[in-house]
Amino acid sequence: MIRAQEGRSIRVETGADVLEPFLSDAAHVPGGFAAGIAFPKNAAEAAPLIASARRVLPIGAQSSLTGGATPRGDIIIGTRALTEMTRLPAGRVRVGAGVPLAELQRVLASDGLWYPPVPTFDGAFVGGTIATNAAGPATFKYGSARRWVDALTVVLANGSIVDLRRGEITASPDGWLALEFAGTAARIPVPTYVMPDVAKLSAGYFARPGMDLIDLFIGSEGTLGFITGATLRTVPLPRRCVALVTCESDAQAVRLTAALRHLDVSAVEFMDARALALVPDDIFTRTSVARPPGGAVFLLAQIEATGDGDAVVQELDDVLTACGVEADPHVALPGDDRGAARLFALREGVPSSLNALIAATKARLQQDIEKVAGDVIVPFERLEESLALYRSTFERHGLEYAIWGHVSDGNVHPNVVPRSLEDVHRGRTAILEIARGVMAMGGAPLAEHGVGRSALKQQMLRDLYGDRGIEEMRAVKRALDPEWKLAAGVLFPP
Ligand SMILES: Cc1cc2nc3c(=O)[nH]c(=O)nc-3n(C[C@H](O)[C@H](O)[C@H](O)COP(=O)(O)OP(=O)(O)OC[C@H]3O[C@@H](n4cnc5c(N)ncnc54)[C@H](O)[C@@H]3O)c2cc1C
Repeated sequence: MIRAQEGRSIRVETGADVLEPFLSDAAHVPGGFAAGIAFPKNAAEAAPLIASARRVLPIGAQSSLTGGATPRGDIIIGTRALTEMTRLPAGRVRVGAGVPLAELQRVLASDGLWYPPVPTFDGAFVGGTIATNAAGPATFKYGSARRWVDALTVVLANGSIVDLRRGEITASPDGWLALEFAGTAARIPVPTYVMPDVAKLSAGYFARPGMDLIDLFIGSEGTLGFITGATLRTVPLPRRCVALVTCESDAQAVRLTAALRHLDVSAVEFMDARALALVPDDIFTRTSVARPPGGAVFLLAQIEATGDGDAVVQELDDVLTACGVEADPHVALPGDDRGAARLFALREGVPSSLNALIAATKARLQQDIEKVAGDVIVPFERLEESLALYRSTFERHGLEYAIWGHVSDGNVHPNVVPRSLEDVHRGRTAILEIARGVMAMGGAPLAEHGVGRSALKQQMLRDLYGDRGIEEMRAVKRALDPEWKLAAGVLFPP
């Protein structure tokens, strides 16, 4: 349904002190600058601003790891005032784009409900996670954001407000999506590339014959419209055991993950020995976990349980014995939220420790030093082979590195640990080689973080779909945003 613009004006702040906190995202790419910032309280306030602006960048919590939420001269349109939350029948919820996921989960939990596709960083906002088709640990069982979005309200580049409901507008047999707005009809050509068949993907526009229009906006990273609200599906809050297991090698960790995937597992997270070596002693002490012997790998499994978890502990024990795991696991039983939080804190300690190390190296040596990391996914059967590829590629380039991630999906983050600017340059070459290796295995180099304004990730998108694929995406963009107003430079150059 299309609504008319309602023309309420909204204040655009331009003061340097107001803009300063919004000039960077979690990718920490330097040099962000903005023409102004506004925080609409609803779609009607956002519409006239977007209609009249020359360039607009929607932002959520700016936890993007791709530079996609770093402004480059745009007017920033922030979502933090879009905080509606309304319970709907059948476990659904209507949520404003600016609701942080942690807040959504808190409110849902009081009704015994849960929203599954939450990234490891739960401070991200609902709109940002839909815009990036975010995924997270529980994607193995529950899929990424796309599967949980029933409806969206979106402000288009010309200021039209569109309410999209899943199932209402689908592509014609000859490959067009039709959307009427502002007295005209946009005909949007459905791209013809074939998306890799992997558990999660955040690699430009969704495209499939007969696709639903709503799926075009999910994962479009702010380039096709400003999402102001969404109707989400939820599930009853599951009871779960959280188990931290020490494995002696990658091979054992992959064998164990394969076995765990046959239990009622929502997530298995992986931290390799190099990642664990980055974590300072005080984090181990705070989480009451002993540092494992050199070379050992951690798996952090979430296994859903009914009752008190005894049956799950028995199943886990059987699987560990079958896989030859000797060390006793740390287990937080259902209801032991503090025990679970301690184990999660160790997992979160891995990226935060690397970030702190990079910040220190940058301060000590050179401001241009930055994070270089992959967000790669392979079909699960290729996982062990892919880990060997990541290690051999980094080692061939003489790089320090660490690997962690959502291993139950075959999705990990191979990270360079840069010691110099030279490492950053060689790291980029290594990550591109890894990306191509992953594609040759039937996987994808853009699993969950998106593409953003990262030149490296835009190159990967081009490698994935070719020049023709990028041209097809640009045709979609032209149909909805002919003046290239929204998030220009995100996904592909303007
Ligand atoms: C420690 C850490 C762990 C992370 N773990 C994960 C993980 O497990 N899985 C995962 O998928 N990601 C992860 N991320 C990346 C990040 O959290 C996700 O990409 C998240 O979805 C971004 O949400 P956000 O609200 O911060 O959006 P932002 O970073 O503000 O924006 C991201 C993109 O979406 C667009 N956008 C934002 N809001 C809107 C809107 N309302 N309408 C249209 N476009 C919009 C922006 O223009 C930008 O292109 C992690 C990040 C950090 C820092």
